[in-house]
Amino acid sequence: MPQPDLRRHPIIAGNWKMNKTADEAMDLVEEMIDDLDVVEGATIVLCPPFVALYPLVDLVEQSSIMLGAQNMYYEEAGAYTGEISPVMVADLCDYVILGHSERRQYFGESDADVNKKVKLAFKHSLIPIMCVGETLAQREAGETERVVGSQLRLGLEGVPPHQAREMVIAYEPIWAIGTGHAATPQDANATIGYLRQQLRELYSAVVSGAARILYGGSVTAANVRDLMNQPELDGALVGGASLKPDDFVRICAVTAELKGIR
Ligand code: PEP
Repeated sequence: MPQPDLRRHPIIAGNWKMNKTADEAMDLVEEMIDDLDVVEGATIVLCPPFVALYPLVDLVEQSSIMLGAQNMYYEEAGAYTGEISPVMVADLCDYVILGHSERRQYFGESDADVNKKVKLAFKHSLIPIMCVGETLAQREAGETERVVGSQLRLGLEGVPPHQAREMVIAYEPIWAIGTGHAATPQDANATIGYLRQQLRELYSAVVSGAARILYGGSVTAANVRDLMNQPELDGALVGGASLKPDDFVRICAVTAELKGIR
């Protein structure tokens, strides 16, 4: 009897944050689409601002590139001025970043908000990329595991195992985001290993063996190889470097080379 393939499919997600108009987004994707399309064995997800999603759907349709949103609201419709519902997001893409530290920090998102969003994302067949990460002060106080463990547990409260195994978790130490100071590969590996162990305790070995856990925080073309050589990392959530076509292509190619499933 053929054995099921239990390997985890790596993911590289580009978080463009609040950068690029719709036209600029088209130009950027046109510049890298052919090179990204030939990367095999890894899923590449581009997460532009909401207003660029619609034009990009057509552009990436014939390619292997997936689209994701950077956020969504936890209601489906109604009087929520300025918000974007999961129904709207699911109409255009397959992934959604939830609980990014910038949303937690600048927009007051709580673990309870993130949890509502995770559940609603699954309801609409979106795959959540749920971010967790500690501040520098928490790290220096030796609280990294407590903080990320709590974010993981609260974000997944009430999420059943068959959905938890589809989750993408991004471990993003806040002190590493946009600073040029990535975590060491060994530290990233250790914290991601801890998160995986938590998934095992919360759910089962099946869930912890299936969920993808990414590293994010100043990933560049120069450090991606060392990071991806670590066994616990299933890919990367990339901010600044995802706006540089050559760098992003390189990050995707190296990740696929080291982790790709063919
Ligand atoms: C991010 O925005 O999720 C991120 C990791 O940013 P950067 O790669 O620029 O540190």
